[in-house]
Amino acid sequence: MRKLKGIASSDGISIGHCYILDRQKINVRRYNIPANGVPAELEKLKLGIKRTAEFIENSKSMSEDSLAEEHSFIFDVYLMLLRDNMLIGETEKNISESLVNAEYAMSMAGAKLMAQFDKSPNEYLRERKSDINNIVQKVLRFMNDNSMDTVMNSENADIIIAHDLTPSDTAQMSKNKIKGFATDLGSKTAHTSILARSLGIPAVVGLGDISSLADDGDLIIIDGFEGVVIINPDEETLEIYKDKDTRYSNYISELNKLQHEDSVTKDGERVFTYSNIELNDEFYLSKKSNHDGVGLYRTEYIYMEHGDVSEDLQYKILKEAAEETGSKQLVVRTFDLGADKLSKYISHPEEQNPAMGLRAIRYSLKYPEFFNKQLRAILRASVHGDVRILFPMISGIEELMKCRTALEKAKNELRAEGVDFNPDIKTGVMMELPSLAIISDLLATEADFFSVGTNDLIQYTLGIDRNNEFVAYLYRPSHPAVLRSLKMIIDSAKNAGIKCTVCGEIAGEPKYIPFLLGMGYRHLSMSPAALLKARMIIRALNIADCEKLIDELSEIKIARLAEEHVEKFIEEHCSSVYFH
Ligand code: PEP
Ligand code: MG
Repeated sequence: MRKLKGIASSDGISIGHCYILDRQKINVRRYNIPANGVPAELEKLKLGIKRTAEFIENSKSMSEDSLAEEHSFIFDVYLMLLRDNMLIGETEKNISESLVNAEYAMSMAGAKLMAQFDKSPNEYLRERKSDINNIVQKVLRFMNDNSMDTVMNSENADIIIAHDLTPSDTAQMSKNKIKGFATDLGSKTAHTSILARSLGIPAVVGLGDISSLADDGDLIIIDGFEGVVIINPDEETLEIYKDKDTRYSNYISELNKLQHEDSVTKDGERVFTYSNIELNDEFYLSKKSNHDGVGLYRTEYIYMEHGDVSEDLQYKILKEAAEETGSKQLVVRTFDLGADKLSKYISHPEEQNPAMGLRAIRYSLKYPEFFNKQLRAILRASVHGDVRILFPMISGIEELMKCRTALEKAKNELRAEGVDFNPDIKTGVMMELPSLAIISDLLATEADFFSVGTNDLIQYTLGIDRNNEFVAYLYRPSHPAVLRSLKMIIDSAKNAGIKCTVCGEIAGEPKYIPFLLGMGYRHLSMSPAALLKARMIIRALNIADCEKLIDELSEIKIARLAEEHVEKFIEEHCSSVYFH
């Protein structure tokens, strides 16, 4: 038995056998196919080539202004290889004549071509060997769009252990019936963790080296409350965790009794609890938990799931979201791509510092056609519900103005085309940068509403990479600097009479709910899985106590002590309804 301590990423206990996912390795297995299976394998190959070509075209056009011509020719070499008879023709021949799967057929054709190039007296051709290898690897990845494919093929895998996982890996998990995961890297506010909470998959991250300590098939306990993972537990330990799992199930039954209630404090203050949605599948849980609408719809997941989708497909997905939300608000955030939310379908330049680089609104404003397509899709969806637009990572008022100009352009186009949309659609700003907290009074007279992204606001205020487990201990939402920023923002919003929601992870964390209510926040947006837990806490609180908590915190100078005070408060006021 071995016990490891990491970062509690997503609540719940899960017990099962593990599969070690090594994402670096593309395991090409050979299997024989029946003669009537040939068309399906050829189709798989064709799709892999098409996606690879799109990716390369995209990379080429996006790097045109930043790469010298002699470097961008490499994209043409890649595109040429994708049409090369010696590579593609040979792969097709392998499939139809040797009756093998497309992956194996491709790697055989690649190996043969590389061997030929290797023997060539021509130095230029010898150097092209690595290009062949690169393109073969790309097609193999794109052929198997699903990075969890290896898991699906492995038997008895109900827990995943990996060095790191991407948000798209996590999105695949519920489909693949994965019960939990543990990773070497990661932190609580990284998107892999956020999605795990949304999907209700227990997880522990930032464990350091679990991927080398566990072996395929080991029995694993994941305790997503304490951030503990146990490899091959003894009988006694197993019983302790089974018991904790049962207690948690009983707590969930109590929570379910609140499904039809509102979130109201003991002293009668109504608090609005909204959902953060990544995938339309999550609406099921939101509606079951009687949410007040969607406070944050993370559209970048459309990209991460489907690639560079057309305006029509974006519209279709958003229309479905608007219909799911009914008459309640649906706040659609424009793509927040970049940093840890990179789509493999989108080309992105190498950046030294991606979190502070070309991400979110900066990316959208740099590529106006890409942005325009999304704005048109949102506007078209606006006739199906109470749709509002939210811009991420705004750093100053000028960017908001540029967004509005882009929105007006999209409106004018639709008007000219005779397409319906809501001309008065509201536009809000994500408050994620310290600059915005400082100018929140100026901004509040410009924006229609604020949405506070505490995940990023804390990252940038305290200078801690939200994905880095080594500095995760510094993530302290009640740090005096964060408290002051949050207070400035809500006060500015109140003075200007605009709505202000918190949509960062703390909005759904029971521990921080008194903290937010005490400052004056009444609109909280969270993962659907957190809605009932938050409601239970809200119903156990008095606003006056929460305000007193803020008064006390404003006297505490040291962040660690402030965090301890917040924990003490929740234990004292909500112990009977706080499961952790
Ligand atoms: C945030 O930064 O708090 C937020 C909600 O946005 P995201 O987590 O998607 O970056
Ligand atoms: Mg953010």
